[in-house]
Amino acid sequence: MLLELLLPLAPSGPVEALTKEYGVEKSRFKADVSFCVLCGLCVRYCNEIKKANAVCFTGRGVDKKITFVPGVAQNICPVCRECVPLCPAGLLPSEVEQVTIGTKL
Ligand code: SF4
Repeated sequence: MLLELLLPLAPSGPVEALTKEYGVEKSRFKADVSFCVLCGLCVRYCNEIKKANAVCFTGRGVDKKITFVPGVAQNICPVCRECVPLCPAGLLPSEVEQVTIGTKL
């Protein structure tokens, strides 16, 4: 079930490899591709280590995604960027860049 939920979000890369390993051939769910595997490393690091709470999860099921908190992320993320090397999907450099230039939030 978890792999079926993740597959529409991240149809290639580590999720694809896991679906092959566990015999999941297709998903019953539809979602916009984001390639975020919802591991939560960025959210937990920002919350528990930095105590900044600049990034959080919003939504449920296939609508779950990370969200940069307006009014917080614009000030903290451009100078922090400590979550960037944690992301197994390699998404955070571009995500943080969008916060920095103001196209995300
Ligand atoms: S670290 Fe990357 S893959 Fe994990 S929740 Fe954050 S953006 Fe998604």
